[in-house]
Amino acid sequence: MSVPRWDDETLKAGTMVRTALWLVTVVGEGNVFTKEEHRNAFPGISQADRRMRDLRDYDWVIHTNTEDATLRPQEQRFVKAGVPVWQRDVKRAATSPAITAKQRQAVFAADDYQCVTCGIAGGETYADSPSETAVLAASSRTVRLSHDRTELMYVTECKRCRSGTGNDQSADLARLLSDIRDLDEAEQRRLLLWIKRGRRGATPIDRAWTAYRRLPSEARDTLLGHLDDGTL
Ligand SMILES: [Zn+2]
Repeated sequence: MSVPRWDDETLKAGTMVRTALWLVTVVGEGNVFTKEEHRNAFPGISQADRRMRDLRDYDWVIHTNTEDATLRPQEQRFVKAGVPVWQRDVKRAATSPAITAKQRQAVFAADDYQCVTCGIAGGETYADSPSETAVLAASSRTVRLSHDRTELMYVTECKRCRSGTGNDQSADLARLLSDIRDLDEAEQRRLLLWIKRGRRGATPIDRAWTAYRRLPSEARDTLLGHLDDGTL
């Protein structure tokens, strides 16, 4: 998608929007920049740093050395672009009041009550951090429908994936490969399918688990009773 030039003087845009454009076109996703480079791009603008932080409200992920230990104090990493704030209608939709509780429930239901990024269900604990319980949220996504039409849609994400801080810096590929080797063939095939599809699919056992978790506690007890004494 073509984006406006960040330094186009005819563009009616504030420092936050221009910073977004500067990040996308000059820095590029995944790359490191310094606070000085940002300040030099916007000479004479006080609080340029703060305008950059404002982008986080629009799902932009920008890490400092507190989130990414490989960075030096003056450096930041442009991890991921969020809402294209230079598109006025999209920006307005993103700042309009949060979706209602009913809409949020519909988003969760459509995603089988699982984080679309890591697959965890609400209330489950993280495998790598058993004391942490997953809380689901509806995150906005700008979906491009055709070349000139975008719409704001929602997906279910756990708060950890949403904040972009859950990425384990010490990823261990060798360990992961060995874990995958320990799966049986059917599980390996299913994993491959999920990877190709870009999200985890709900299996019958997942759907049963999700349905179980949504039962009132009395009904859970009844179900547990049936399972326990084999009277399904
Ligand atoms: Zn997640």
